[in-house]
Amino acid sequence: MDLLEYQGKQLFARHGLKVSSGEAVTTVEQAVRAAQRIGYPVVLKAQVLVGGRGKAGGVKLAGGEAQVREHAGNILGMDIRGHVVHTLWIERASDIASEYYAAVLLDRSAKQPLVMFSSEGGVDIEQIAQSHPEKLVREHVDPLAGLSREQAARIAVAGGVDSDVVDGVADALVSLYEVWTAEDATLAEINPLIVTPEREVRALDAKVSLDGNALFRHPENRALADRENEDKIERRAAEEGLQYVKLDGDIGILGNGAGLVMSTLDVVAQAGGSPANFLDAGGGSDAKKVAQAVELILANDAVKAVLFNIFGGITRVDEVARGLIAAFGQIKPSVPFVVRLDGTNDVEGRKLLAEADLPNVYTARTMDEAAKMVVALASGRPVGAAA
Ligand code: GDP
Ligand code: MN
Repeated sequence: MDLLEYQGKQLFARHGLKVSSGEAVTTVEQAVRAAQRIGYPVVLKAQVLVGGRGKAGGVKLAGGEAQVREHAGNILGMDIRGHVVHTLWIERASDIASEYYAAVLLDRSAKQPLVMFSSEGGVDIEQIAQSHPEKLVREHVDPLAGLSREQAARIAVAGGVDSDVVDGVADALVSLYEVWTAEDATLAEINPLIVTPEREVRALDAKVSLDGNALFRHPENRALADRENEDKIERRAAEEGLQYVKLDGDIGILGNGAGLVMSTLDVVAQAGGSPANFLDAGGGSDAKKVAQAVELILANDAVKAVLFNIFGGITRVDEVARGLIAAFGQIKPSVPFVVRLDGTNDVEGRKLLAEADLPNVYTARTMDEAAKMVVALASGRPVGAAA
C-alpha cells in the first residue's frame, strides 16, 4: 500500500524525523487560506502516487497569494502520468544547502534490511546508480540488532556528507529505519533529504509503502489508504475479501488460485486477447462467493466476455459447477462466459453444467481451448466448440 507524500511525512514525524509542517487541501480557496496560516514562502505539491512530480510541474514555490492561486489552479486537476491530482500539500518552503538520498528497504535475496544513501540527492535513484555508482552507499542491517547510531554515522561518512551534519544525517537514518520497522513498511525513502543553511537535516519528500499484510497490526494506518485514487471496483473487492486487480483489456478473468489466474492472463494474451482484470476466487466454491466475483467482473463496463478457469484440487469441480449454476440463477449475465473445468470430479462438473444448459455459457476442457473461445467471443466472432 503506497502512501501519498504528506501521509508518509506524518509517519516520519511520528518517529522523530524532521519535516516541514503544512496542510493538505483540495481547492484553490483552501490553498490560499492554508498558505496564509503557514506563512510565505510556501511550496505547493501535487499529491499523487507517482514520482517525478517536480519535473512534471506538480511542485511549485509561491511567494504570495497571487502565486498560490495560479499554481494551485494549475496543479489541482493536473494529470501526472495518468494520476489526476485531487489533493495539494502546502508546506513552508525550505532553503536548501544540500540534497541527499536515503532509503530503507528489504533486500529479499540477502534476507536483510538494506539502507541506501547518497549525497547526490534530488535526482532519481536509478540515475544516481547509473551515473555515480560509487556515490551510492549500500549497507545491510542486522534485523535483530537494528540500525545503531554508529552504523548510521558510518553510512553518512561513507556517503560523503558534510562533516558538521554527520550526526544529523545519522539521526535521520535511525529514525527512517524505525519508520520502516515500526510501521511495517516495505519501503521508506527520502529524496531529497536536505540540509538547510542553518544546518538542519529535514525530509523534503517522502515515499512510503506499507505492507498490506501487516495492516492488522496498525489499525491507525488503515485510514491512510488513498481512497480517492483507488479504483472503485478494487475497493469493493477488498471489502469483500477478494483479490482483484483491474487491467486495461476487455476479457474478464476468474480463477481459483493466484498462480492459475496469472497463467490464465498469459494464455489469454497469447491467444490475442486482453485481460480486463486479475481475480482470484480462492479455494471456495459457494454460490454466493461466485456470484460476488461475477458481479465484480461485470462492474467493469469494458468487459465483453468472461473466462472462468477452474482447476479442481481440494475444491471439487462438481461443487464449483453447482456454485456457478446457482450464481447464474441469481445474476443472469449479459456477456458470454467460457468455463474451463478440469481436475477432481471434472467429468461430473461439466455434466452438471451441460445439463443446466445456461444461456450464454460455454464450456471448455483445456486452458488453450478456453482462451481461444473467449477471445473469439469478446471480438464478436462465433464459437464452434460451444457446449
Ligand atoms: P518529486 O519530484 O516527485 O520527487 O517531488 P519532490 O518533493 O522531491 O520535489 C521536487 C523538487 O522540488 C525537490 O527535489 C526540490 O529540489 C524542490 N523542492 C521541493 N520542496 C522545496 C522547498 O521547500 N524549497 C525548495 N527550494 N525547493 C523545493
Ligand atoms: Mn522527490
